[in-house]
Amino acid sequence: MDLSSVKRVATAVNTVILLLVFGLMAFFAFIDVQFLVIFSIPTALIYIAGFILIFKDKLDFYVWLVYCWLTLYMGVTTVCLGYGYGFHLYCFSMIPVMFVTEYISYKLGRRSIKAIVVSVIIAVFYILCTGYVAYFGPVYERDHRAAAFFWIFNALIVFGFLIYYTNFLIKSVVDSEKRLIEAAHIDRLTKLYNRHYMMDRLEALSSEDGAFTLAIADIDNFKGINDTYGHNAGDEVLKAVSEQMRQVCSECEISRWGGEEFLIISLNPKNDAISILEELRRSIENSPVHFSDTDIKVTITIGIADRADRKGVDAWIQEADKKLYYGKNHGKNRVISDSVTV
Ligand code: GH3
Ligand code: MG
Ligand code: MG
Repeated sequence: MDLSSVKRVATAVNTVILLLVFGLMAFFAFIDVQFLVIFSIPTALIYIAGFILIFKDKLDFYVWLVYCWLTLYMGVTTVCLGYGYGFHLYCFSMIPVMFVTEYISYKLGRRSIKAIVVSVIIAVFYILCTGYVAYFGPVYERDHRAAAFFWIFNALIVFGFLIYYTNFLIKSVVDSEKRLIEAAHIDRLTKLYNRHYMMDRLEALSSEDGAFTLAIADIDNFKGINDTYGHNAGDEVLKAVSEQMRQVCSECEISRWGGEEFLIISLNPKNDAISILEELRRSIENSPVHFSDTDIKVTITIGIADRADRKGVDAWIQEADKKLYYGKNHGKNRVISDSVTV
């Protein structure tokens, strides 16, 4: 959330509160509680001043002023009229708002209000006001039927707000957790899994039964592509090759293992995996990457290892690496799956 949208929301909230203050002022006059009518005048002035504070970018001061006055307003109306009108309920909705305000201040790099301190102050003030009314009764005994409507209206707003807000906050936390997990697992350039994720996957797979096949693919002469066409062209090649891998090995788990090196796990037995990876090699060879009016010819070499020997993850990777190395030394653009002596 940026500063201008925070200011827009603050202006909208301020307008709604100011209108409510005028409405309540009229009601206090109607039930003949002169003190609250008079008290509504500084209240309205505070919110009118609020527009100027928001406009002048003095949001910290505005927030403090509004929260302090709202708390005072709830306390005064409760002491005057009792809790039959439900004004004191707003104290409960103030607390999550305080914490979110502190969070937004932090995000905007602003001085922050200590939500925990203010929340404790609100709680103490609430207990004092409601305690006073419970002990002495309200200052003005106005047994008006309208109290029921106020109670229902205020309770509806407070409950509605708390339900909506808590739901919204939890959804935001879940979304941001998802984004963080994705960022921690996914390579930004190719959108494939990254090495850390793949290491965890390999560890997990090594304790499972099944005919998994592991392959390491490496783009041939990639340094030459960078040198000839530039680093941006190299990046485009990496993205295009990754896309081909996703399409041809749709059932594989594919990661960017290093610069132009990919580690692929196929959940198929070795023979099936070999034919898929051979198809991948051929498809990359036959699909030059188009980059600023040039077709860049790309090939890859792949080393394949199944885990028949079950020697653990490192040995499994080394086996595939050994075959890749063999392929690199024997012409490149090849898939090596049989035992080799390097
Ligand atoms: P070989 O056929 O033996 O694999 O040779 P090669 O040129 O592909 O391998 P080499 O290890 O000599 O060079 C790899 C190059 O990959 C060097 C490095 O600058 C480049 N590289 C690594 N990561 C990236 C990247 O994210 N983008 C680009 N454009 N280049 C990268
Ligand atoms: Mg290479
Ligand atoms: Mg390499």
